[in-house]
Amino acid sequence: MIDKLKGVCYNMVNVMYQINYEPAMQISLAKGNSKLGNGVYALNLMPGNKPISTKDKGQLTNVRGTCGGCCDGCERLCYAVKDARRFHNTVIPSAGKNTVIMRHNMEDGFEQLKYNLIKKRARVLRYHSSGEIESYNYLLHMVKLAVELPNVRFYFYTKRFGFVEKYLNECGDFPKNCVCNISEWKGNTDGYNLRGLNRFVYDDGSDPKLAKVFHCPAVDKNGHKTGITCDYCGRCFSGNNGHITAVYDHSGKKKHRKVVKKVV
Ligand code: SF4
Ligand code: SF4
Repeated sequence: MIDKLKGVCYNMVNVMYQINYEPAMQISLAKGNSKLGNGVYALNLMPGNKPISTKDKGQLTNVRGTCGGCCDGCERLCYAVKDARRFHNTVIPSAGKNTVIMRHNMEDGFEQLKYNLIKKRARVLRYHSSGEIESYNYLLHMVKLAVELPNVRFYFYTKRFGFVEKYLNECGDFPKNCVCNISEWKGNTDGYNLRGLNRFVYDDGSDPKLAKVFHCPAVDKNGHKTGITCDYCGRCFSGNNGHITAVYDHSGKKKHRKVVKKVV
């Protein structure tokens, strides 16, 4: 049975990481990595739609992912889901705990996040290197924190277009230090009014128009990492100025690499 409110499955047996909410749980912030760079912190949640499992190891956790179906097309290719399977001993306990804290006690979760950012003198926070905005209320908390900490730049990529559109309609623009990048892929934004927001477009080589768009400098045309970090580049947290950024396919899938070759 899945408790939809709490997002955990109680009747799972032989779960490697059984994570149930406890009031003493602490939010965990990740500091930098080879992609983000040292100056960028990240708050990660469980990725995907369901509790993650693998063929050989079985059920890895009882905590449902936060992507809520917005990723039906991309979960298969998602590096966050892959990382959660591959590096489960580090990824799942921290992302799983963050997820249950935010589900059970969002106020406390954001208070803890604020405390940690102040204590660490963080300059930049990336929301959700893994996971997604799980509810409209959660998005409102993200914005509230940005208003409370005007010297920290917050940024995120999202496919939760419904929440974002609702926010734009009900509350107006995002604060300058809360930068929303719309993750666009194969017409998934059709029908939404996401006026003025940045677009981050996945370039799998199938749309020739993207050839002229600025491409993320962290990935080259062959899908290889260049070593340029987000901390160094800063484009995705520079502001809500409506710019478009494409990123070359870096999924490592052979069939996608072939398509990329046709374009370059
Ligand atoms: S929405 Fe993002 S984090 Fe979730 S499965 Fe898709 S790519 Fe991964
Ligand atoms: S454009 Fe810059 S900030 Fe955005 S993902 Fe690429 S390297 Fe990071």
